[in-house]
Amino acid sequence: MDFRPELSWEFLSEDEIIAKTVRALRNHIRHVKEYSAFYRSLLGQVAPEDIASLDAFARLPLTTRKNLAESSSQFLAVPAAQIVETVVTAGDGGRSLPFALTASDLERIAFSHALSLHGMGVTAADRVLLLMSLDRCFLDGMALYRGAITVGANIMRIGTGVSMQAVLQRYLQFFKPTILAGTPSALRAIAADLARNGYDAAKSPVEKIIGAGEALSTKELAHATTRTALETLWGAQVFSIYPLTELSVAYGECAERNGGHAHPELVYTEIIDENGRPLPDGEIGELTATPLGVEGVPLVRYRTGDITFRIPGGCSCGRHSCRIGPILGKKSQLFTYRGTIVYPLVLTNALDAIDEIQDYLVIIENDERGGDEVTIHAAAPPTALEKIKQAIRDSTGVRLQVLVSNVPTIRGLRGGTTRKIPIIDHRGKTAAKAE
Ligand SMILES: [Zn+2]
Repeated sequence: MDFRPELSWEFLSEDEIIAKTVRALRNHIRHVKEYSAFYRSLLGQVAPEDIASLDAFARLPLTTRKNLAESSSQFLAVPAAQIVETVVTAGDGGRSLPFALTASDLERIAFSHALSLHGMGVTAADRVLLLMSLDRCFLDGMALYRGAITVGANIMRIGTGVSMQAVLQRYLQFFKPTILAGTPSALRAIAADLARNGYDAAKSPVEKIIGAGEALSTKELAHATTRTALETLWGAQVFSIYPLTELSVAYGECAERNGGHAHPELVYTEIIDENGRPLPDGEIGELTATPLGVEGVPLVRYRTGDITFRIPGGCSCGRHSCRIGPILGKKSQLFTYRGTIVYPLVLTNALDAIDEIQDYLVIIENDERGGDEVTIHAAAPPTALEKIKQAIRDSTGVRLQVLVSNVPTIRGLRGGTTRKIPIIDHRGKTAAKAE
């Protein structure tokens, strides 16, 4: 593929992007009404010509994950023979859903990720060590792999696994990768493991880290502790990329590292309130997006369930594409404590910043009156208890129950998994069991 990032819409003026987006949305509605049985029925009364502004588009009905789960075959807009890959969406506490991609969809994903990588300054001269899962039908690793190929970088697919420290050390020493891509929590643990083996990751040739799928900024857009810790451990600059399987796009940080840029030719991004109305820039709501140019499973105003906001104003990198803040949590994981909404990311950022905490788990349950009951289990010395409580009060504005615990107990509460799961939400489980 001839990759020409300089031709991307994101370098056009804001007005030009809006004009092109309205045209693309109109064509998109025409396309889904012709090829998708779900939208032929849902948008029966809508004439594509009526989509003459973003306001007109915002009056269209929303698509939910439930729609996708219940009517998946109705969404397929190509003959089954045209599907070349099936991936699965992230679980979000429920079942993961299969998602069909055509050859053109794969090219589109490659282009989306290549634009993000270009924004981070990745070039054909870079050597990328990919520490992400390329199997189990996940999109993220495959998407970054294809994006890096499109940029022309040299990629080494190490993957994930418990026994990879020795292999990784050899790769770092002999192939001198300039870029690492993986999940931030895993890359942090790997650096600590390497240090135990006598290898100082900060002295490695790695210059940049691409952290996928975990927020690396605070709600105020400062660098989160995980980002600064990774930068110190690896002696590298850390960039965040946020891929979404159903949208087949990623929101990636540019060199300014101040929000994830959307690629406007590939996705139209809205933030909506509880009633589905678009919110102005800066206001917190649900990320809702319309991917453009998708063949297999095209979507219109898809509610992602992720809570974030659009960042007001242009970016000093010169792109005029919309930027989103960090994902503050899944909509389903927000909780209200004595009238105050607590965003999961704000709480986990506060806990991540406390050195004395080895591990922690936030458990959300229903209390007797149907409200939200929150308990934080922290593997930390009892002497740190007051400091933890104070940090939670300072960041969230509420006093939450904190229990001093230990790593094996917390692992047990997670069901024995060694994966870092920061929050378990038991709300609504009793009702579900009774069904
Ligand atoms: Zn930028």
